Amino acid sequence: MLAAAEQGHDARTLSPSHPANLRKQVRLHLDPSFSVKSYIGAAATLLEKAQMADAQGNLEAAFVHYLTTASVASFVPKHAEWPELKKSRDATFLAYQELMNRTPEIVQRSQAIEAELAAREEHDEVDELSARLTALGEGSDAKGTEVGDEVRSSRSGSETPKDASRRDAVQDVAVPAVPSPRKRPPPRPPGEADAPTPSMPVPDGPVLPVDALWAYMYPGFDRTTDKAGGEVLVKRPGLHALLVDVRPRHVYDAGHLRGADSVCIDPALLRNAPVSPFELEEALDRSAPSEAARFKQRAAYDLLVLYDERTRAFGNAGAFTPEQTVLDTLVRALRPDLLHAPVLLRGGYDSWSRAVGDAGIVATPGATPPDLLETVRQSRHNTYHVNVPSKPQRTYQPPRPTSREIPASLLSGGGAPEHAHTGIAQVPQATPAPSSSVYRIPASLSAAGQRPAAPRRFLDARHEVRIGLSGLRNFGNTCYMNATLQCLSATVVLSRYMIEGRYKKAINLHNPLGTRGVLASAFAHLLQTMWSQQHASVSPHVFRQAIGRFAPAFSGGEQQDSQEFLTFLLDGIHEDLNLVQQRPTTELGDAQQEELNRLPPQLASIAEWGMYRRRNDSVVVDAFQGQLRNQLQCLTCGYTSRTYNAFLSLSLPVPHGRGMTQAALQQCLDMFVREEILDKSNAWRCPKCKKPRRATKRLSLARLPPILVVHLKRFMIKGPVTNKISTPVMFPTTGLDLSNYMPPPLPPGTAVQGIPSSESQRPPYLYDLYAVTHHFGCLTSGHYTATIRTQDDWFYCDDSRIARSDLAQLQAPLWRRTM
Ligand SMILES: [Zn+2]
Repeated sequence: MLAAAEQGHDARTLSPSHPANLRKQVRLHLDPSFSVKSYIGAAATLLEKAQMADAQGNLEAAFVHYLTTASVASFVPKHAEWPELKKSRDATFLAYQELMNRTPEIVQRSQAIEAELAAREEHDEVDELSARLTALGEGSDAKGTEVGDEVRSSRSGSETPKDASRRDAVQDVAVPAVPSPRKRPPPRPPGEADAPTPSMPVPDGPVLPVDALWAYMYPGFDRTTDKAGGEVLVKRPGLHALLVDVRPRHVYDAGHLRGADSVCIDPALLRNAPVSPFELEEALDRSAPSEAARFKQRAAYDLLVLYDERTRAFGNAGAFTPEQTVLDTLVRALRPDLLHAPVLLRGGYDSWSRAVGDAGIVATPGATPPDLLETVRQSRHNTYHVNVPSKPQRTYQPPRPTSREIPASLLSGGGAPEHAHTGIAQVPQATPAPSSSVYRIPASLSAAGQRPAAPRRFLDARHEVRIGLSGLRNFGNTCYMNATLQCLSATVVLSRYMIEGRYKKAINLHNPLGTRGVLASAFAHLLQTMWSQQHASVSPHVFRQAIGRFAPAFSGGEQQDSQEFLTFLLDGIHEDLNLVQQRPTTELGDAQQEELNRLPPQLASIAEWGMYRRRNDSVVVDAFQGQLRNQLQCLTCGYTSRTYNAFLSLSLPVPHGRGMTQAALQQCLDMFVREEILDKSNAWRCPKCKKPRRATKRLSLARLPPILVVHLKRFMIKGPVTNKISTPVMFPTTGLDLSNYMPPPLPPGTAVQGIPSSESQRPPYLYDLYAVTHHFGCLTSGHYTATIRTQDDWFYCDDSRIARSDLAQLQAPLWRRTM
């Protein structure tokens, strides 16, 4: 067991995704005022949620839901009504028995996830430390390899995307300029590292590459033995460096180097040479007193490191760039007081951020994002392209007309209910199916701009009600909540359902997974206040109290992930407003599952959706939920299993790594649907072989909702460190076309007995953007804002402030420059 101790205190804090922390989220207790039947239904719902999360690779949520399922199932026999139910041996009782039969499977899967999550944490930690050691072994020679210029070695095709992304993350955070990232340091001779390294020599050259600076600040760890005989890594003392950021103050505030004391000397102060150090001190006293204090102590530091945006060298006599002139003026001002000449970080902020990634950047607390917006736009390095939806890759080839029908056995209960209560159409409204046998994407679509005349958008700005706009006050770190609420408020179909009070008829008082309407009502009242526009900004404190009663994490002062909040809120509203009072208890038997496997995917998907709808019927399902197909194939016997899971949002991976300057949303989708190999500890338990087997897994879209939430997975939790992937992702604001990701439409004339026609879906699947959440900084200290659209106008929402925005602003990848 390896533990890292940093400067006397234990730095090995468990991440939020550690199983020990996840266990704390299992908090559903027996409340006898809910019937035993409702608990059995709740257990089945929880199992469904666990499988939904599991299919999308959200192991943390899957783990919590599996454990909660087990916990609910285990307290069912303690319920007062249990003896009576047991006597009755009715359908609910049999459903419970069926659930209990699946307990070994649930336990096995949750144990496997627990092992995987725990292993991930330790594996990453060890990996990261050894990567740092490697970096030091090779980086401290300061060979001057230019970070970011090197080309990453191509990978073998055999590894899984998971492995690859894991290693990428390690590289992103810990390995500046390591020529061969996979190389491990040679084992140290025993005893060699026991003595602390003597203080390091101060560099004598005027320019320092990123890796050398890193090595000076983080000289790495020594292995020693603690009192209990365990191996401990102890941080070596580094050089005491003062980082002098020579960029405009607002740029510095938005993000500067992390890892040592730093001050900002605005180049504006250095325009008229010569400059005295006292002028600089006075200017700092006015703008940033804490920095002034550090700056006055500059002679006490081992090293002064200057950097600007990307200057690589001091100027040569007679040939100074404007940036070099500024730096020269600063050196001349500082030099007389210092023992060692200041050094220049080669390539400046730009090289550092590319090499170290977001973990190496920090923002000044309280820095305002509008400044950042300015920064992003002013930065001459970033040129942005207005995005054009990528050309459809293929045309549709509908399958030949077939007389296959969905077997009646899969349709017990006779089709899904219609959803008059929410007034939400079940599909993005499409034209009647084209009568020609081959459906083609209209050429006008790929020619950008023009839209095919026929398809009616679900979200057509002109037909929408104008939303009411109010800012939301921040109670300290509640920007994640505010940004999410603004996006939901801009979701007209949901907002109107809540504001007009239609939700009241749907409140489910019998669902132990819900809040008996408390959450839904608080949400509705908040939306009413926001839409009334009586105040420039609104305090969502009643809403926050309501949500805090059911998820204390969201009432505390800590920053949370807006995506987690969105998922929790929509899930809570769904459970509060689920019209299904008593879940149908029939689960799929093996024979039915086999039958489903043999159906064409379009029909299997419809049948599964119908069954899902009979258990889940709410405004949230109508508006936000789609369906994923998860296909697993055993590489030993070839057995293929297809399961269908509802989803609330698509969590897409973001391509990253050095040299990845930007990505298109389509690339994220391509990664999402890419085949993955399940192997080793993650092997699939093949139902035919009846043992864990190497298998392929492929996710695909089976059904798209009217409102599509796309979540870019930018946070990577690795042990105690959370990294953010900052690759900008380009997305179209109108006409996002997902048709190519969907199975081809059923040919006209296909008999789909017992399925309401609204249940089948037809291309094209086009989406217009109307709300975006932006995130600046890291998970624990970042800032969230939102841009929303009402009719054809865009607004930027930053807590209590709302300002008119435009498409150009939105197109700029706001997350490129983090912090
Ligand atoms: Zn098999």
